[in-house]
Amino acid sequence: MRGTDAKMNLLGLERRALEVFFAGSGEKPFRARQVMQWIYHRGVADFDTMTDLGKPLRAWLKNSAEIRLPEVISEQIANDGTRKWLLRMDAANSIETVFIPDEERGTLCISSQVGCAMDCSFCATGKQGFNRNLSTAEIVGQVWVANRLLGAAPGGERAITNIVLMGMGEPLANYRNVLPALGIFLDDFGYGLSKRRVTLSTSGLVPNLLRLAEECDVALAVSLHAPNDALRDILVPINKVHPLAELMAACRHYVRSQDHRHVHVTFEYVMLDGVNDTLEQARELAELVRDIPCKVNLIPFNTFPGTRYRRSPQQVIDRFADYLWQKGIVTVTRRTRGGDIDAACGQLAGKVQDRIRRGERKTRGLVEVRV
Ligand code: SAH
Ligand code: SF4
Repeated sequence: MRGTDAKMNLLGLERRALEVFFAGSGEKPFRARQVMQWIYHRGVADFDTMTDLGKPLRAWLKNSAEIRLPEVISEQIANDGTRKWLLRMDAANSIETVFIPDEERGTLCISSQVGCAMDCSFCATGKQGFNRNLSTAEIVGQVWVANRLLGAAPGGERAITNIVLMGMGEPLANYRNVLPALGIFLDDFGYGLSKRRVTLSTSGLVPNLLRLAEECDVALAVSLHAPNDALRDILVPINKVHPLAELMAACRHYVRSQDHRHVHVTFEYVMLDGVNDTLEQARELAELVRDIPCKVNLIPFNTFPGTRYRRSPQQVIDRFADYLWQKGIVTVTRRTRGGDIDAACGQLAGKVQDRIRRGERKTRGLVEVRV
């Protein structure tokens, strides 16, 4: 994503900021809308193509601004159609973005940080440690690049119908850059997605969750993973700072603050063999979320080298889910997608890079394409 520091990267500027940028040079605010349509609707990153702008304006833009994008290092396609891209960001950091096609939707799972500082004990990204926050342009750039690689026809049908911030990083720990990115995803002149189609997943940074409730109303997923503080302190260490009572209160507040009906929180719960998967723990979980409109998403643990955890057997997952259903809680077990290319939840850690470094271009179930 290299470029000249002196130039303003227009990618990642929300509409209002872009209007200010144009106003600063005596241009009309509607220029912002025109440029956004070129960038986000038509996938254009070259000022010369923006023919409705007029030559002098284009010349000025080329001089003072740029649309700087992540560089695609590699693409992998899993047997189930899941695609994973390794993208090079500014300062040569690389991150992973995953596209998960389904019958009636296409979900793009994007990263918000290089690594993660939360250190959840069952997560490959957490084990990798924290490097830095991604900029708004780097977050939005993942969607731009994925759209381009998925061959979204200009003005035609979009492959990406949903965006989830469930890749690398804790989005609420990068609040300052994530919030404008959400704005661009929702803006009609940006990606124009409905609030229900953009999901932010958090491990529970309560103060920023409360802020989010005031400033943006995207769908919320909370990584619960344990029904009591003693266990959650071990699995999700941020729990020691913001324990369950605080987190549950913030979830209640989030639901109340939304102005549309049918709002719920999705509680994510990774199924770890013999750790958090007993019926007694299901009972505790049902009790914990009793007064919050919610769904529970059970995630079969995805393994990675060096982990001491194992995935719960399928019948244990089913028994856990059945119990929650009996208690009236809508419970879905997430299908593991892209496991053969390490693109499943919690497996993102730049491992492709290691393979490329070793010169391995093909592995079982993996087609790797240099882009
Ligand atoms: N940092 C955010 C979002 C990214 S992770 C968060 O923690 O919510 C997306 C989901 O995958 C989270 O619920 C996370 O806890 C879960 N996850 C992490 N490691 C996993 C693993 N090895 N197997 C299955 N799910 C995992
Ligand atoms: Fe970070 Fe989420 Fe992984 Fe925890 S589960 S270490 S918050 S990416």
